[in-house]
Amino acid sequence: MIPRCHDFTRNVARALSNRNLQSAISRTTDRFLSHRDAAVRSFPGDFEAAREAASQLKLSVLRDLDVHLSRFIEEAERRGASVHVAHDAAEAREIAVRIAQEEGVKLAVKSKSMATEEIALNEALESAGVEAVETDLGEYIIQLAHEAPSHLIAPAVHKTREEVSQLFVDRLGEPYTEEIPELVAIARRHLRDKFLSAGMGISGANFLVAETGSIAIVSNEANARMVTTLPRVHLAVASIEKVIPKLSDLPAMLRLLTRSATGQPISSYVSVLTGVRRPGDLEGPSKLHILLVDNGRSAILKGKYREILKCLRCGACLNICPVYQTIGGHAYGWVYPGPMGSVLSPLLLGLREASALPDASTLCGACADVCPVKIPLPDLLLELRGDARAQGHRTPGEVAGMKGFAAMMGRAGLLEAFERIAGVVSQLLCKDGKIPWLPFGLSGWTDRRDFPAPAVQPFRKLWKIKRGIAPWNR
Ligand code: SF4
Repeated sequence: MIPRCHDFTRNVARALSNRNLQSAISRTTDRFLSHRDAAVRSFPGDFEAAREAASQLKLSVLRDLDVHLSRFIEEAERRGASVHVAHDAAEAREIAVRIAQEEGVKLAVKSKSMATEEIALNEALESAGVEAVETDLGEYIIQLAHEAPSHLIAPAVHKTREEVSQLFVDRLGEPYTEEIPELVAIARRHLRDKFLSAGMGISGANFLVAETGSIAIVSNEANARMVTTLPRVHLAVASIEKVIPKLSDLPAMLRLLTRSATGQPISSYVSVLTGVRRPGDLEGPSKLHILLVDNGRSAILKGKYREILKCLRCGACLNICPVYQTIGGHAYGWVYPGPMGSVLSPLLLGLREASALPDASTLCGACADVCPVKIPLPDLLLELRGDARAQGHRTPGEVAGMKGFAAMMGRAGLLEAFERIAGVVSQLLCKDGKIPWLPFGLSGWTDRRDFPAPAVQPFRKLWKIKRGIAPWNR
């Protein structure tokens, strides 16, 4: 997927005019959030203490990431896996394509994986003559629509049921139905042959367990199990920060992940996959390749943004974010949307491409409140805004505005004159205490909401009156 974060403003305008998108997103995010609230209330134990423990665990892993990764690689290889490390997306694509070609694969079935989206693996496989079919229902839908995921755990969240029904008619030649069980049955029927004839299964990984060299995958559809056990070859693609030290660390992380994501105490399927198929095993791949993707994470690890690497990809910060709820995931222009994406995308792609994303936040702090591993998202967003300005990523309007503001704040007389003029003008534009329309470049404030009218008496004047400063000094 080619990043289009620099088109953020245009993407947002398009998203705001799409009413279907907003109603589909708010329906799903509201449901996820209410389930999460219920799951937190019924959490067996102290939820805050569990978040703190998970945060500390992830921080300790990040401190010694190289040690944990070496252990993971050693243990996975001891159990028959081949582990590959890719420094960037291009190298990751090259390795994955080479594996497919060496194994003579023509068809690969995939289960949901943000890492493969990040490295644009599907496109690379297609160009090498390998068909890659998504098997998670949401991913299958957006693949049919030639779109990218718009949510970390609900990739087709932006689509209404009617849109999915029409898509199945147009792309699969199926009769129109809006019945969800029938839509699921159609997808299942189309995917069944793919599962049975695929030469390779491609999955992501929610966690990599260093102690045993295992891959842990959570899902609510059985597709991940089919992908990882039916085909002869399994390729797991995971970013390097997914490692955790021990198998005994897994339950604590899982119970936070699933509760934060969908409000479930545990997801329908949790697969812990260790090594290749052994003699006597009923199922499993005879070849297991694990592709560890760095793609800029080692650099993030060394700097002030390292806490973003604690992210479990639960999606809770997206669900609660008023900006995400309004514009959906595609507006962010790349694979990672919402508050976590507004931090991670500029770090992985560079501020030149994605400097607009950190501005897409009200800094209300709700994302940090729900994050199961306590990532200080608003602090990181503010820090990124500072870096973006320091590197000169500002629009001409912003530069002029800031210069004018600085000049005004440095001269008391100018500021008072401005306050007086603003007071008069705002009264002319004001209706019921609000300004419904602002002229010229300021209309962005009022296109979709009212601007609160400034007070008639400026604060500084009121302050002087209150302090009893002589009228001639006011
Ligand atoms: S930043 Fe936190 S809340 Fe957002 S997806 Fe990651 S773990 Fe979940």
